[in-house]
This record gives sequence, structure tokens and C-alpha cells, in this order.
Amino acid sequence: MYARPFIDSLDFARNGNLINGSVPIEELHRLVDALNDRQGSMQFAVRGSVNKQDGAVLRVSAQVDLHLLCQRCLEKMVLPVVIDTQLLLCSQAELDILEDEGDEVDCILADTNLDVIALLEEEILLTLPIAPRHEAGQCEVAKNDKLAAGKNPFAVLAGLKVVK
Ligand SMILES: [Zn+2]
Repeated sequence: MYARPFIDSLDFARNGNLINGSVPIEELHRLVDALNDRQGSMQFAVRGSVNKQDGAVLRVSAQVDLHLLCQRCLEKMVLPVVIDTQLLLCSQAELDILEDEGDEVDCILADTNLDVIALLEEEILLTLPIAPRHEAGQCEVAKNDKLAAGKNPFAVLAGLKVVK
């Protein structure tokens, strides 16, 4: 069984700690619902640091290939997702202030028992398109349209002509 890592986030950041590894996709409980299958794994790294304003920061990065269904042709597709975000650890009071100010800084609540995998999963969910689709030119629907357009309707008739 996969042992989910938990960290004391403020401590982790202030000590400049690093955690990295690989987690099976099936451990990403919220994400799997959006997926076509549970194959593969996610590579991740979380690094703690302190910024110039003495704020505790987690740099969160991950890389995963998500197996989805194209919402256009309903065939399988692979969506490579890469995240690399800096998250400032805040108290609840600080979070309230930042929300009021509409600040752009990404903040999360400092947690003494932070579920690292859940945090990564959250960040990946934020990047997911609502309706994932193949890239132009790789979609089966687009290919079929092109084939149909390329066909001369009279070519079919010619094939039916009876040779005497
Ligand atoms: Zn498609």
C-alpha cells in the first residue's frame, strides 16, 4: 500500500525541506473520477523555503499523463499535465485579508498535518479543462470530416457503373 506523506507545512517550509517521489494514479481519489483509466503514476516534488518577506512558501511541482476521453470523438487521449506553483502558507486571518484585497498570491492555510498528495491533486484539478479534446489534427472526428470532404460523390457512382 502506498503511504501518503503528511507534513507539518510551516516547519517543513522554514527548514527548507524537500519531499519527492512517485504516487500511483489510483491514490488520487478525487482525480480518478475524471479519468478514463487508472494507469500510470504522478511524479512530484514539494520544496519548502522562506521568501523575502519572511513568508513560508511551498513550491509544488508535479508531472503526470492523464488518461481521458476526448469530448469530441469520445476516443482515448493522453493529457500531459505539468504544475509548478508557489504557495504561501497563511493563517486563517491572513487568508481572510488576502481574499478581501483580491490579491493574486496563491495562499493555502498553514497546516500541521498537510496531506501532500491531496494538495497536489487539488492543483492538478485546477488545471483540468472542462471538456478535454484532442489537439487539432489528432481528433478522430476531424479526421473523418476530412475524409468525407475529400471524397468525390461521383466516384461512388463510377464504381457502380456496369462494364459491358
Ligand atoms: Zn478527439
